[in-house]
Amino acid sequence: MKILFVSSEVYPLVKTGGLGDVAGALPAALRAMGVDARILMPAYPDAMGRATLTGRTLGLGDPLGVGETRLLEGTMPDTGCPLWLLDCPPMYERSGDPYMVYPGNDWPDNFKRFALLSKAAAMIGAAGDLMDWRPDVIHAHDWQTGLVPAYLKAWSVRRPPVLFTIHNLHYMGIFGQEILEIVGLPLDQFSINGLEYHGLVSMLKAGIQYSQAVSTVSPSYAREIQGPQEGRGLDGLLRQRGDSIHGILNGIDVDAWNPLTDPYLAAPIDPTNPEPGKAANKAALKRQMGLDGNGSTPLFGIVSRFVEQKGIDLVLGAIGRLLGEGAQLAVLGSGDRNLEYELNRAASHHPGRIGVHIGYDEHLSHLLQAGSDFLLVPSRFEPCGLTQLYALRYGTAPVVRRTGGLADSVRSVDEGPDGTGVVFDHAFIDAVEWAIGRAVSLYRDPDAMARVRRTAMAQDFSWKRSAEEYFGLYTDLMARD
Ligand code: ADP
Repeated sequence: MKILFVSSEVYPLVKTGGLGDVAGALPAALRAMGVDARILMPAYPDAMGRATLTGRTLGLGDPLGVGETRLLEGTMPDTGCPLWLLDCPPMYERSGDPYMVYPGNDWPDNFKRFALLSKAAAMIGAAGDLMDWRPDVIHAHDWQTGLVPAYLKAWSVRRPPVLFTIHNLHYMGIFGQEILEIVGLPLDQFSINGLEYHGLVSMLKAGIQYSQAVSTVSPSYAREIQGPQEGRGLDGLLRQRGDSIHGILNGIDVDAWNPLTDPYLAAPIDPTNPEPGKAANKAALKRQMGLDGNGSTPLFGIVSRFVEQKGIDLVLGAIGRLLGEGAQLAVLGSGDRNLEYELNRAASHHPGRIGVHIGYDEHLSHLLQAGSDFLLVPSRFEPCGLTQLYALRYGTAPVVRRTGGLADSVRSVDEGPDGTGVVFDHAFIDAVEWAIGRAVSLYRDPDAMARVRRTAMAQDFSWKRSAEEYFGLYTDLMARD
């Protein structure tokens, strides 16, 4: 089975979020199962620097009229997975964030950059003599690759089926109608039954419309986006495609996140006897975050981007309750300037009780997961979410809203003896307050807390499980082809 992964980011070459994690880990997990999975991504300078290149190249000409384009052959640095970097310097020779000129401002030519990525994938997939490797399935990810099946549909060639995975429906890849001519797609695709979205082009919609199957990164999110609330105007189309929409929960890198061997931890955490390791990491985390008191204070942690989706404003609204319960808060993250300011302000008003670190810090994120008693994830929506999965693995009980992947991965302590966290329903401050109170009462019952920790640490979120589900999906698509 030959699968081509197309993604605008792949960890550890370039990553801005969960998409990068998936695009790095899933091909490797599939290769371990004997699948010939290969990756195509843009040759950003960071990617060129980190990949192992063989020196072999394959010219693609100038498919979009934006410059000579080549495939640079290589392998991933850690897993050895085969890789093609799509080289077109006028498009990709830009350092830093792959999408933005500076925070909050996308590159104005993103439609060309990602149309070129999509077109190159379609060229590899289309029958022809481009190379002696032709994928059985193209697995495309998010709006940046939504045009892959649009190109394949427009060309009258034998074409492999496309599986299009939505990691976040919020980002739709919206551009003006005029781009169609520039990227070389037929104007008849600009219709309600094509890639038109309220008078504009949506590359995400193209991916949903023209691919042979669609998946999302959790079963609950697959259902939610078929409703008006989370469907963002695409719910009608998604309902139409209902039979072809699949929800597969992401896995995590269980080697990078191993509580017994993680070098960023102050002490290992033994899943069969977590308490000593948890206590040592909690003490180290409190020291690093400037929190006072002894180890008996319940400690809530947050690791997050600060965007509306993540509900950080709800936590700010519930801080009075958190402190009133005698708890402490450690926050790591960055994003919305206003939220950064408000969190820093809360920390300066309550020194020793609230610790805030603004920025991206891989090391601290591991210690925070290991040292907290609870991880707060009050997302308004959450396609999958990874932080709650890391928390479970490190014996930290997630306190989550019942949405998307959070609902699929955390079992409420109020719904049976095998609960792994606290689950609340509404994105309101008083619901977060209730959840904080529930978590603290759990904490004050050491036997119940110990049971939750052990149950949490026994969960299996390895990529092997998810990769097997994708394997089944590819097999179905190939049988239909
Ligand atoms: P999203 O992709 O929506 O941001 P996920 O939970 O799927 O949310 O993935 C977030 C990833 O980014 C996790 O691996 C998390 O640990 C990491 N992360 C987020 N913020 C930070 C930060 N400030 N420092 C270190 N890692 C972070």
